[in-house]
Amino acid sequence: LQPPTEPLAVLMPKSVEEVAAMLALCHRHGQPIAVQGGLTGLVAGGHPLAGEVALSLEKLTGIEEIDTESSTLTALAGTPLQVIQQAAEEAGLICAIDLGARGSATIGGNVSTNAGGNQVLRYGMTRRNVLGLEVVLADGTVVTSLNKMMKNNAGYDWMQLFIGSEGTLGVVTRVVLQLHPWPQGIETALIAVDGAATALKLLRALEREAPNGLLVFEAMWREFYARAVDTIGLAPALPLGSELYLLVEAPMGAGGRGAFEDLLGSLSERGLIADAVIAGSGNERARLWAFRESIYHYIRHWPLHVSYDISLPLNRMAEGVDALRAAGRTIAPDVEIVIFGHLADSNLHIVAYGPENRAELPKLCHEAIYRTTRALGGSISAEHGIGRVKKPYLPLSRSPAELALMRTLKQALDPAGILNPGRVI
Ligand SMILES: Cc1cc2nc3c(=O)[nH]c(=O)nc-3n(C[C@H](O)[C@H](O)[C@H](O)COP(=O)(O)OP(=O)(O)OC[C@H]3O[C@@H](n4cnc5c(N)ncnc54)[C@H](O)[C@@H]3O)c2cc1C
Repeated sequence: LQPPTEPLAVLMPKSVEEVAAMLALCHRHGQPIAVQGGLTGLVAGGHPLAGEVALSLEKLTGIEEIDTESSTLTALAGTPLQVIQQAAEEAGLICAIDLGARGSATIGGNVSTNAGGNQVLRYGMTRRNVLGLEVVLADGTVVTSLNKMMKNNAGYDWMQLFIGSEGTLGVVTRVVLQLHPWPQGIETALIAVDGAATALKLLRALEREAPNGLLVFEAMWREFYARAVDTIGLAPALPLGSELYLLVEAPMGAGGRGAFEDLLGSLSERGLIADAVIAGSGNERARLWAFRESIYHYIRHWPLHVSYDISLPLNRMAEGVDALRAAGRTIAPDVEIVIFGHLADSNLHIVAYGPENRAELPKLCHEAIYRTTRALGGSISAEHGIGRVKKPYLPLSRSPAELALMRTLKQALDPAGILNPGRVI
């Protein structure tokens, strides 16, 4: 992958009018632009290439309105996700988009990548939380629909085109988000099960029997859990040796911990749970989450690890994990893979690493992982997008007709090809 280059200039608009003027100027002169939010994206979409200017939304920031009657929040695109979450919380509501990069990622970046995260199971990806949008097209035209209504079938829902388009079709400048009531009585458990097939039975049972459904259902296969203990240094909350560990959160309402214990006890009697520990306090909840978040420390131990975020159909998940492990063994004898992710959303994250820094590691891994994903009917990107990193592999997940449609849309909306050229398609 070509490394990021110093841009010719960094444009930092402070208003939508400035974004429009800058895009109109670049459009007129055929000047390519790298669009940037918080730069936490994992597929190098915002990294400038030679001859590009960077358009940073960092100064286009601020919450413009919280409407508690409509349960909506309107913000400028450069506002960090965490700022939005805090403002929603102060208004007694929650912004359901949540991910580990919340402190730096911007809402415009979240929309442009259709970010997923930890609560997709309950609230959907970013797309499902966006009611209104404003974008500036490549030629500087501002298109605004700060819609707050759940239902609006007046013609094409053009906003959906821009959500997840990774800055290739337009620049997002304002977002109207749907907020939600706080889930009451959240209980957290780490659960050991004997594999993906049992995990999916457990998922369906919890969805049926937990009084308010589930909030989180995160999976960590045995290699991942062992690394969290052996290498990252966490004290085991459950013994090592189970096939799969699940971090589960459920809003139990007034029933609270007692009802959660009864529910898990009953599921255990039915053979769906091998072992479990329930968090008894905020500190214990953080301790259980630390296993899932141990991934953020990998960079210290394996500077050259390669990460994947794929989707697999749920009915092929158990078979898929075995196939991915087998694919990992074909890469090289000293390469190991760990698997974890948002199981209920059919989204697996895979990290491949070797004991030594091997420059050829990414190349060795991509073919093995992506070909296996395709063979299983999966997608090469569940949530991080395509950017530059996965562009050569997009045909593994999209048909020629789909790719042609994407090119038609790009050509129609950005005929001079100035917005994030060379990304996605
Ligand atoms: C620790 C960590 C945890 C993460 N966890 C998750 C996760 O759970 N789920 C998930 O989906 N992602 C995750 N990510 C990836 C990343 O945080 C998301 O993709 C995020 O939405 C990117 O936001 P950003 O503002 O940093 O965008 P950037 O990285 O700046 O940009 C991302 C893409 O969007 C484009 N873009 C940015 N802003 C705009 C705009 N206003 N208009 C048009 N295009 C724009 C850029 O050109 C680029 O193509 C994680 C990243 C890190 C570092």
